Amino acid sequence: MDSPRNLRPTAEYQAIDAAHHWHPQTDMAEVNARGSRVFAGADGIWLTDTEGERLIDGMSGLWCVNVGYGRERIAEAMYQQAKVLPYYNTFFQCTHPPAAEFAQAIAEVAPEGFSKVFFANSGSEANDTVFRLARVYWDVMGRPRKKTFIARKNGYHGSSVASASLGGMSFMHAQSGLPIAGVHHIGQPYWFGEAEPGESPADFGLRRARELASAIDRIGAENVCAFVAEPIQGAGGVIIPPETYWPEISRICAEREILLVADEVICGFGRTGRWFGSETFGIKPDLMPIAKGMTSGYVPMGGVLVHDRVAGPVIERAGEFAHGYTYSGHPVACAAGLANLAILREEGLVDRVREDIGPYLQERWLKLGEHPLVGEARMVGLIGALELVRDKERRTRFAEEGRTGTEARELSLANGLVMRATRDTLLIAPPLCLTHEEADMIAERAARTLDDLADAKARAGET
Ligand SMILES: *Cc1c(COP(=O)(O)O)cnc(C)c1O
Repeated sequence: MDSPRNLRPTAEYQAIDAAHHWHPQTDMAEVNARGSRVFAGADGIWLTDTEGERLIDGMSGLWCVNVGYGRERIAEAMYQQAKVLPYYNTFFQCTHPPAAEFAQAIAEVAPEGFSKVFFANSGSEANDTVFRLARVYWDVMGRPRKKTFIARKNGYHGSSVASASLGGMSFMHAQSGLPIAGVHHIGQPYWFGEAEPGESPADFGLRRARELASAIDRIGAENVCAFVAEPIQGAGGVIIPPETYWPEISRICAEREILLVADEVICGFGRTGRWFGSETFGIKPDLMPIAKGMTSGYVPMGGVLVHDRVAGPVIERAGEFAHGYTYSGHPVACAAGLANLAILREEGLVDRVREDIGPYLQERWLKLGEHPLVGEARMVGLIGALELVRDKERRTRFAEEGRTGTEARELSLANGLVMRATRDTLLIAPPLCLTHEEADMIAERAARTLDDLADAKARAGET
């Protein structure tokens, strides 16, 4: 790894950052009062800050750096492409080698029948593309009334107006008068948090899936365009649905002629031990928004994988699809994506998650579920969560939802492990290249964090 360029003192960065940089999804008053942590470099699964401290990145950045940091091959591919053709558009009957080749490479790893990819620059844009493409599909199928989307409470699909509307984050909706018209939300398959006492995961999964059937029947199948959901909810708290959930959802969508959209922005590109989460859960989607692991975050990119049964009629009958971005299929992003896919394939990282490092970390992670403060430990592939509880048997939470999660996240940072907290749930999704030794370190640091939390709670008289 190249060492970070000449660095100024941390406090200087904090000062200019506080003065000029408005961070996303952030309480700026709070951040500026404390000063941001300044990251300067990274290699493999390790981050380095401007104080020289090294941390394990248990979150792959924001669920995106699947192949790990410091990949010369991706940096080199971007550099070479920027020299040869840094930009050209893909409107007006134009293309370039990286766009054509990356689209082909993605189609090669995608499930059967997904031979087309529409490029965007983020997961939000990918879901905005879904919003329009799904409606155009039903138009060309002669069913223009099918316009309503059904998605889920506590789902996350991005931060643009349409994608945040598909998302079910009530705090996002409340702040800006969302969702827009034509989006309806049903309950999520969050067994640990929302099942009735004594209800089995299987029964709960079916009950939540059948909310989709009721919603469609209420709105009228003739008015419903698509159901949009993440195979595993990421930002919502790594919510892994019961096994009964997805088969029932798939059955309902097929029976009522509703498009099924699997948002693969986090699950795609190996996170669950298959190329796509849909394969892990046996989902047969029509559209798959992708981003994050598509370029391992080395440069922004997103897209929508479109099944032939949707792409065919739209391409044949719609004429111009009046949608697209200046940077759709950006050559440098495509070059990064090609190198990223080559690494995933040549190093067999996806199979490794399924057969080797995934089971290895899962075994250690699920053991953390024995800790008195953990109500449930769960993990599929390399994406997992710990539900923090005050009383394990009764599943009671600590007071003031979110406070304990934040406290635990800070303790984890102090132990040299970046985890994320959603409410009082700790989340983990490390790069797919982590070694067995690093997996041991993650489990050790997480265990130490739980012990530190127990001490802090005892001192505060909260247990
Ligand atoms: C992150 C995320 C998005 C949004 O992606 P951006 O690149 O931040 O716009 C969409 N869907 C899911 C499932 C995500 O996790």
